[in-house]
Amino acid sequence: MEGATARPERVLRCIAAAPGVAYGPAYLLLEGMVKVSKYAIEDVKAEQVRLDAALETTRRQISELRDEVAGRLGDAEAEIFDAHLLVLEDAALVGEVMAMVKSQKLNIEHCFSTVADRYIEIFANLDDDYLRERSSDIRDVTGRILDNLLGVTSRARKAGEPSIIVAGDLTPSDTASLPAGEVLAIATESGNRTSHSAIMARALEVPAVVGVHGLIDLVSAGDTIVVDGDEGVVILNPSAATLERVRLSSAQAARRREALLADNGSPDVGTDGSPFVLQANIGGPDDLEDAVIAKAHGVGLYRTENLFLRIDGWPDEATQYAEYAEVVRKANGQAVTFRTLDIGGDKQLGDAEVEANPFMGFRALRLCLEQPEIFRTQLRAIVRASALGPVSIMFPMVSGLDEVRRAKAAVHAVVTELQAEGIRPMIPLRLGVMIEIPSATVIADALAAECDFFSVGTNDLVQYLLAVDRGNERVASLYEPAHPAVVLTLQRVFQAARSRGIPCGVCGELAGDVGWAPLLLGLGADSLSMSTPAIPEVRYVLRRSTQADREALAGVALASVDPVATTLALRSFASDRLRSRP
Ligand code: PEP
Ligand code: MG
Repeated sequence: MEGATARPERVLRCIAAAPGVAYGPAYLLLEGMVKVSKYAIEDVKAEQVRLDAALETTRRQISELRDEVAGRLGDAEAEIFDAHLLVLEDAALVGEVMAMVKSQKLNIEHCFSTVADRYIEIFANLDDDYLRERSSDIRDVTGRILDNLLGVTSRARKAGEPSIIVAGDLTPSDTASLPAGEVLAIATESGNRTSHSAIMARALEVPAVVGVHGLIDLVSAGDTIVVDGDEGVVILNPSAATLERVRLSSAQAARRREALLADNGSPDVGTDGSPFVLQANIGGPDDLEDAVIAKAHGVGLYRTENLFLRIDGWPDEATQYAEYAEVVRKANGQAVTFRTLDIGGDKQLGDAEVEANPFMGFRALRLCLEQPEIFRTQLRAIVRASALGPVSIMFPMVSGLDEVRRAKAAVHAVVTELQAEGIRPMIPLRLGVMIEIPSATVIADALAAECDFFSVGTNDLVQYLLAVDRGNERVASLYEPAHPAVVLTLQRVFQAARSRGIPCGVCGELAGDVGWAPLLLGLGADSLSMSTPAIPEVRYVLRRSTQADREALAGVALASVDPVATTLALRSFASDRLRSRP
């Protein structure tokens, strides 16, 4: 591999997705494609050592797979891996690869992939059916060896050392299975600020950027790169001076975070004494410790699908109950708002059918109402957990009254069923809906009559209201929350809830934006739920404003037809108050 210092520093502009700056070795997470670089080497022996290590790792991986499959499905099903182990022992293949390294003085991964491709082609063209089929075994095993040589994988798994995750597209299920302690930052070619992977990166508290054009072609595994999630920048081949600057600014950001966290001692009230409510968005029990430290007022959004994404499957009632009960216990008497399964859209499980238009397809409540056993299993687990502490349930992707009525009926049926088993909620369950589809905003008044509360999902609401895919970097500039249609719609929803006497919170990403939080309260939101890292700064701004200030800001936003002017007004409201920040 070429030395990073030999190449000039290069700055790639992209979309900032999660704050913070970090640098480290790139770990390429590639789906179905492996980039193999070619470079001259001096030390043939070192290449042999690398190959031996990759062969040993591959041997171990295949043996583990073999044992796992044998245990699960039986020895006959596991035989395929014996064939794979034989490919690995093929002296001719390894001999040819090393002969090429020696004669051409080229790096091992280049020689290995050249020889392996030739083997695959020869087998694929043989007349004998049996031998021809062996080409797929060779492809599989050599692909694995190459992965191990390159330090990449086609699926999320341990990177082995703290790394910057570089990917074309990072699915929510990839992100959910990333080992939290080993991710320094995330950079992807596709995506937008509100794609679920970006949301997860913010929850993981790692810097992230999305929409980095050409990234995969420009980065090789192990290259040191900088990810600046504040400015929306990736720096390739960073100079020593750049790395020093990054070190200083990360240390400063860490100090600032600590100081902001220390500002959470007094009650959550503005300078006029008006209270405000900040809650946490979580994806599982692990997120709760930080939420408690940040003094969140309970959980406003528990994305229950994260468990499904982590295991890439359908957990049974016992597995769900164990996780939900842990969350309720850790919340320590504070209310937890369970959002029922929101799978679909960009949050797909491996067995999902491909849809032409997944964000408008078989997603969330639609799937649950169609597949009542999946819904019942989840509701049983949630209702059982509600015997341990206060729980609310909210339904995602509601577009009309009938869906809410059917969802409520499903909850009531489960409650009756569990009561017969001697289980009942600690306090009556509160049932609400997410307002994230335009039709729901139009009939907000009728929906409010059916619910105990609303929570606005601005991530989806903006995408559906403006017809702009929330995860597509090519239309990122059109994803404009400050569009007057959005501001007006939000105000109408808050008013509809208030006139029916139910609370309306916001749990989309706007709630955790320092510019937007005061506006949402000014427009009439009752609570704001956000990923925990966003809480301290939002609290800092809200503590330094009055409800009258926020309503005046809402007046400015409602009167504006220019999203740029609105955003500027929001930014200056926040930065005026952040000026005294530690
Ligand atoms: C939303 O759409 O704003 C929301 C909170 O839900 P999600 O981001 O999980 O779709
Ligand atoms: Mg949503």
